Amino acid sequence: MRRSLIASSFTLLFSLSLHADSTNVAALAEAYEHPALAPASKVQGLSIGIGNMTFELTSGSASAVSAGGQIVGLYFVGSGKYTYQTAESVEAPLVVLESKKILGRTAEKQGDALTIQADFTELYLLTGGVPLPDLKAGDGESLDERFKKHQERFAHARRRPSSHLLIRQRLDRPVSPVAVAEIDAAEAAVYIYDTVEAKSEALVGFTPYRGTAIRELSGAWFPAIVSEQPVGRNRRSFVDPAYLLSDLDYTLTAGDGDSATLSVTETIQPRSMPQDAYRFNLLSNVWDTNGRSREFHLLSVKDDAGHDMAYHFAKNSLLVGLPQKTNVPFKLHFEITGDFLFHPHGDSFWELGTEPWFPQPDLNGQYYTVHSLVRVKQPYTAFAPGDTIARTREGDFNVVENRLDKPVQFAVVLAGRYGVSEEKHEDITIRVASYAGQNDAALKQLSNLAYKMIKFYEPWLGPFPFKEFNIIEIHELGYGQAPPATMFITKEAFNPISSQENQIFSKGINHRFAHEIAHQYWGHVVKMGSVEEQWITEAFAEYSSSLVIKKLKGDGAYASMISTWRANANDAAKVAPIPLANRITIPNDRSSFLDRTFLIYDKGAYVLAVLHKQVGDDKFFTFMRSLQGIFAWKFLTTRDIAKVMQKVDDGKDYVPFFERYYWGTEMPVMPKG
Ligand SMILES: [Zn+2]
Repeated sequence: MRRSLIASSFTLLFSLSLHADSTNVAALAEAYEHPALAPASKVQGLSIGIGNMTFELTSGSASAVSAGGQIVGLYFVGSGKYTYQTAESVEAPLVVLESKKILGRTAEKQGDALTIQADFTELYLLTGGVPLPDLKAGDGESLDERFKKHQERFAHARRRPSSHLLIRQRLDRPVSPVAVAEIDAAEAAVYIYDTVEAKSEALVGFTPYRGTAIRELSGAWFPAIVSEQPVGRNRRSFVDPAYLLSDLDYTLTAGDGDSATLSVTETIQPRSMPQDAYRFNLLSNVWDTNGRSREFHLLSVKDDAGHDMAYHFAKNSLLVGLPQKTNVPFKLHFEITGDFLFHPHGDSFWELGTEPWFPQPDLNGQYYTVHSLVRVKQPYTAFAPGDTIARTREGDFNVVENRLDKPVQFAVVLAGRYGVSEEKHEDITIRVASYAGQNDAALKQLSNLAYKMIKFYEPWLGPFPFKEFNIIEIHELGYGQAPPATMFITKEAFNPISSQENQIFSKGINHRFAHEIAHQYWGHVVKMGSVEEQWITEAFAEYSSSLVIKKLKGDGAYASMISTWRANANDAAKVAPIPLANRITIPNDRSSFLDRTFLIYDKGAYVLAVLHKQVGDDKFFTFMRSLQGIFAWKFLTTRDIAKVMQKVDDGKDYVPFFERYYWGTEMPVMPKG
């Protein structure tokens, strides 16, 4: 804690002295954190329209809000009403549900549109590029005290600082309107109008933290999207990112206990117009298995010449300001320390997983090769994806250096007390790492199983994309995960007979293995550019795995997977279409978690099973192969999937199929025979 305070104030001083101009995102972010309120004026019957939102300030007082020498919004206290509309048919069923569950409001149907209305008592509206009403200062009460309380209340919201979007707009996209409104109503809400990053507008409510494990989260509000509709784009198209992260080069040194130092060099490729404010996702902290916070301290951000860059880092979001605008590739260096290498349940391993433990853009900008150097104290062994350049010892340290020369997402690193068995199967080295020991027979069996599955996939998914593949035991039960060139798989896969618990989980081990291996194709070779396209990784991996099961266990086992998918999907299908599954939030209801799974995995896989049955083996496998071939190392969208299917199936239009079963809530019917 102490270190973080010193570090951040030090950096702030530095950056202030270096760049005292408007590009100083650190100073600007501070200004937005502590805005100035003008003397209030009485307002009556004032209406503000932004996108599909209208705020009516019926009667009360309002103050102009300024930050960094500009009026950037207003703060209103009194009685008001908001009216929000969405005409996006894709989200209609979910909006009806979420409006009720999260905001306690009925979404009224008017023609094709749904309308949500609620009264509010306070509105804090920040804008950029949006005309604001001219408030005559001076004839109202002072709102400073109320405003302070408002800020304290909304500080419970676990969302990134509003300033990061507003500053990006202010510095780089002055003609692209943005707004963030904090609405104090019976159910608090935030409205976001974003034509800069997400290119969407959203009405977001909150669900309170109800757990007890993490004391710091008591009173926290978790965002829950009620509606999100695209602005100026089609929901089905890939959203161009502001920049690509195209290379990640890091050195991680594990110190004593859980401490780490992390030096990261990133190559950034701006994608469109020159800009000087770059936003990254970066964890502010993680909670360990005891509910204790482990912080990521960002010590510095420098350019390639070693100059300090101004930055603001808060709430899992990092905004970096360059001294001038650029649209040519450049490098940034980040120094990070902290005690974030925590050991789950005191076990002898740690993991930096798929969460943003280094600065990174959203999914559509994650497209990076990796060079890594990881130093861990003996007797730990570290694993990072990619080709092994060297495994060496330096004093007390075991060191591993890797390179991944294909663009990926989700770089991970893990280390612990592991026994390792490595086997070269012709063209692929499969490394199996078992926690806290070595069971050679089991390791060899798993290595062979993985290789057999890879060989089954290759004829219709293409050559296995990596020369080395790590299968790493996670000392827990019941899940698998597939970072690039890696499978994390829980202990029952390694020791199926050791306990009754293990036996329960190990029943589906072939299926899970096949699913995780398929992710090397579905997720890494072809990528999802947003969470709305997550079925491209999950449903395609799941369906691919069922073909392995069919091969290993026969038609009956395959048919039974299909009927499980259909049964699971039937109910969930009514809640939302597949692309919006990640938005399902029903407070206090476990079924929202299941609905998500049942849509992305089960309904998605079932849709593919129906497609397979409709077109037959030849066309279906050509379809799979074409997706993997045409979109190798690219982002794939469902729109492109429909186009490829059309080409494979003699020009038949597949847009209606995906509109009904993917973008819509219908369940397809399996052809007979
Ligand atoms: Zn998966």
